[in-house]
Amino acid sequence: MALIIGLTGGIASGKTTVANLFHQHFAIDIVDADVVAREVVAQGTPGLHAITAHFGDAILLADGTLNRTALRERIFADNDEKNWLNHLLHPLIREKMTQDLRQVRSPYALLVVPLLVENQLQSMADRILVVDVDEATQIARTMSRDHVSEQQVKAILSSQASREQRLAIADDVIKNNAENQKLLPQITELHQKYLAISRTNL
Ligand code: ATP
Repeated sequence: MALIIGLTGGIASGKTTVANLFHQHFAIDIVDADVVAREVVAQGTPGLHAITAHFGDAILLADGTLNRTALRERIFADNDEKNWLNHLLHPLIREKMTQDLRQVRSPYALLVVPLLVENQLQSMADRILVVDVDEATQIARTMSRDHVSEQQVKAILSSQASREQRLAIADDVIKNNAENQKLLPQITELHQKYLAISRTNL
């Protein structure tokens, strides 16, 4: 299996932006936990069957796909249901990410996991790369991207791991704050480093 770099960061830190740059400039394969999380509940999957068996067909949209809004509402104020869902999905997501990582053809892969720290998925990666930004930048970027209020962003921030918790497990850090938007030089330097490591790992 290729060298795996776990890429994480808080809301609107720039994970997708960074991953896209690695892919566009250096053809690095990406496995994204958010994408995988949707794939494991796509139509016809065992994941979706388990969800309909548990919540009933009312959890589906008219076209037979998962009604995410309805599911979010069902688990929002109900910890038992939330735990049930997490117990179902987390192993499915982990398994699919592992399968996808086995298909990687680039010298190393980026495993993008927004909740890497929260879900303790560090062990899935050989190294951890954290996209670090200050809170004010996160708030401004989320507000303009998602059209949400400052209060809503602050609530999300307080539900996520702190900047310090993420930095504590980082092997490498990309700074993506307002004053330091020069992402490509940082990415190029890391790319060289990861290539060198992947060569010694062979
Ligand atoms: P989430 O986990 O919340 O989906 P993310 O960490 O993947 O977010 P992005 O979607 O890459 O973050 O970036 C969040 C927003 O900030 C986007 O609108 C993006 O265009 C913008 N952004 C990211 N990096 C920069 C930058 N260096 N300069 C300006 N805008 C940026």
